[in-house]
Amino acid sequence: MDFNIPEYPGLQFGTIYCIGRNYASHIEEMKSEITEDPVVFLKPRSSIIFNGGTIHIPNSSRNVHHEVELVLLIGLETRNIEPGKAAGSVKAISVGLDITARDLQSVAKKGGLPWSLSKGFDTFAPVGNFINFTPDIDLENLDIDVSVNGETRQAGNTSHMLFSCEEIISYLSKQFTLYPGDLIFTGTPEGVSSIMPGDVIQASLQKKLSSLTVYVQ
Ligand code: MG
Repeated sequence: MDFNIPEYPGLQFGTIYCIGRNYASHIEEMKSEITEDPVVFLKPRSSIIFNGGTIHIPNSSRNVHHEVELVLLIGLETRNIEPGKAAGSVKAISVGLDITARDLQSVAKKGGLPWSLSKGFDTFAPVGNFINFTPDIDLENLDIDVSVNGETRQAGNTSHMLFSCEEIISYLSKQFTLYPGDLIFTGTPEGVSSIMPGDVIQASLQKKLSSLTVYVQ
């Protein structure tokens, strides 16, 4: 694959940062614990697919879940930024799915091992269309939802995040230099559930401001 971002010719996807445990309701359903700092993990760029793409269930998993999330596209090189200025680093937003092999993740969690395998398979990072981030967009009040075969499974709002988008960007920028093209998956609300071959998954951000339809094989 090439790594060009369809909406922004000349800009390529960079690092994919993901935040775990960012909604209390999801922490509760996973029987996880709230953390003092954001939980950070990465996905490889090879996991990205787009509208109309197909998620491939790997042979090694029997339980793959959808996690609908607000996705931020970074537009500026950013290091050590304070939360109050962090929104200026956002170029665009999208709806995305942090696809997760839950059974493999459970084994990793029990062993104190990384989540990379359970989160990073090819096709495990579907993203919808990117919308330019403008001052009228309130990152702390965006609806995200996902349906499977027409049935709503998750419907949340970014106001329920434990770490706001600006806090996430600030935190990440104090550990890593963020670059244009980097993505940040900002965590999922409650309602994660299994997906099966043949399923049609539809996700949207703020009433289809950004939307995504993907298939499962
Ligand atoms: Mg997630």
